[in-house]
Amino acid sequence: MAALSLLVGCASPRASDVGACGAPQLEEARDAWRPGAPGAPEIATGYTRKRLVTARRDLVVAAHPLAAQAGCEVLAQGGSAVDAAIAVQMVLNLVEPQSSGIGGGAFMLHYRARDERLFAWDGRETAPAAARANDLRWIDDDDHRPPVPSARASGRSVGTPGLLRMLEQAHAQGGRLPWRALFEPAIRLAEEGFPISPRLGQSIAAAAPALQGDARARALFLQADGSAKPAGTLLRNPALAATLRTLAEQGAQAFYRGAIAAAVVEASADTRGGTATPGRMTLTDLAAYRAPQREPICTPYRRVYLVCGMPPPSSGGLAVAQVLGMLESFELAALAPTARDAEGGKPSVLGVHLVAEAERLAFADRDRFVADTDFVPLPGGSPARMLEAAYLRQRAALIDPRHSMGRARPGDLGGPAQGRAGPGIEQGTTQISVVDRDGDVVSMTSSIEGAFGAYRMTRAGFLLNNQLTDFSARPVDEQGQPVANRLEPGKRPRSSMAPTLVFRRRADGARGDFLLATGSPGGAAIIPYVTKTLVGVLDWGLDAQQATALVDFGAFNTPITFVGGEHPNVDGREQGRHDALVQGLRALGHRVDTASQSSGIATIVRRTGADGTPLYEGGADPRREGLALGTPAAAGFR
Ligand code: GLU
Repeated sequence: MAALSLLVGCASPRASDVGACGAPQLEEARDAWRPGAPGAPEIATGYTRKRLVTARRDLVVAAHPLAAQAGCEVLAQGGSAVDAAIAVQMVLNLVEPQSSGIGGGAFMLHYRARDERLFAWDGRETAPAAARANDLRWIDDDDHRPPVPSARASGRSVGTPGLLRMLEQAHAQGGRLPWRALFEPAIRLAEEGFPISPRLGQSIAAAAPALQGDARARALFLQADGSAKPAGTLLRNPALAATLRTLAEQGAQAFYRGAIAAAVVEASADTRGGTATPGRMTLTDLAAYRAPQREPICTPYRRVYLVCGMPPPSSGGLAVAQVLGMLESFELAALAPTARDAEGGKPSVLGVHLVAEAERLAFADRDRFVADTDFVPLPGGSPARMLEAAYLRQRAALIDPRHSMGRARPGDLGGPAQGRAGPGIEQGTTQISVVDRDGDVVSMTSSIEGAFGAYRMTRAGFLLNNQLTDFSARPVDEQGQPVANRLEPGKRPRSSMAPTLVFRRRADGARGDFLLATGSPGGAAIIPYVTKTLVGVLDWGLDAQQATALVDFGAFNTPITFVGGEHPNVDGREQGRHDALVQGLRALGHRVDTASQSSGIATIVRRTGADGTPLYEGGADPRREGLALGTPAAAGFR
């Protein structure tokens, strides 16, 4: 079994055969982090080849080796997928603070194998009760100057954080270890310190001017002269350690009431001596925060698969489902990448064309119709209307295999027009994918929106999100029609996050065995990133690592199609004029952009070993610092 030679172990009885938790991948990752080491990932331009990881049971994929290691150790102690995801998240808050944390929100899909139940958790931030429609555009209804220093860095962008409430509820349903234990790795690392990774170092450098404006962020991330602390610097965060201790002992309620809640409100309301517009969040908003369970969106794909995603307030699940539904009109399997290698090969011109065109059509509907459905209903009152097979066939018929449509129009779905709002590009998100020994699975996408969120650090040691900038800043469009995704009190901003789980379908069409977990950061580009990964595995037969690594390509609803120029199989020189894929797409009328992509895809695929037992493949995105780590089975491991 060649695949098993790549297996990495953690704390198994046979650990000496395969190394301690994380070796050899973990060691390689650490080596790459020595300052100046060749091949260290870049913030948005890096590409570090990664190997497929396989495991008999227990696999975690996360965006930072220390976080993956914490998850792996929790799994090795008998923890569940939910337990591991919580431990991973707490470490990420510390070591990848630019991307996610308890000051933000998340969506989680959790499959509980023992009763085959699927849960969709909504930990999205909410707008404060006192929010006003134009809060992101102007200081007040009688002062139309924009918020200072910007909508994002003002308190106006800060939504009531949802992560902890969501995690606590998910733990109640899927946890096996005590809540308290899940905070230990993060507390230890926060106290002892960890080396700033190259990606974090570059993120700090890029954000240094904005971080300067916040005394606590400045103290943590910058040197005395105001320059960024470089990669390799040991970072400690005692304030976060103390906060995590409190949360470990007292549970999530200690976040939503009391001293930590007061710290959140204080940082959101901070005017920085009159130089910044304060937010409107109150202690009542925090105390009232709820993380509801939603009905996941599950749609059949090519008859044999069931693809499940997150419903609104994320647009991610719906958009991915629409794209796949349209792609069923085409024989994509015949358009697989050529020159197949560990990086996923070279995508075909027609394959990319069809997927990108379907994405244009899906984005047209998303931009028009999708928002928080507690406030604005979808056409027909549920996702069903937008996912009807006949409707998607009709949409797919708009795709011309010989020419790009450039821009798509939204479908004619009746109901009130809601106005448009474009996608927007953001960067402050992370993906966690986990499977445990019982076959429970978690796919969770977690976010503080932009890198370092609102650049506001609480005295409790964590950053606040700027998630409310995912609302449309304008409540009405150019025609004066209300925009579905307008800011309203208590509403959740529309997201693109698309944690996804795929199952096989039984003969009667019902949901069967788990097959695939994936997701990614990337703002609106999450939708194309997740789509190419799904198509990569389901239509093109790629393994978890190949599909994750595969060239990032796709489109929003504009004439631009992106083809990630950071990929070793794309010749990005001179805007791709020497690259056959890029030139082929241009010949079909696409305006191709070869800018580097910075997806952070984390994929798990379940295969069946020769003896009929599951064999899990893990794929971590070569564009970030993440890692897949697994544990071998104690018995049956050969
Ligand atoms: N805030 C974005 C969303 O919810 C995600 C940002 C990112 O992926 O970096 O869609």
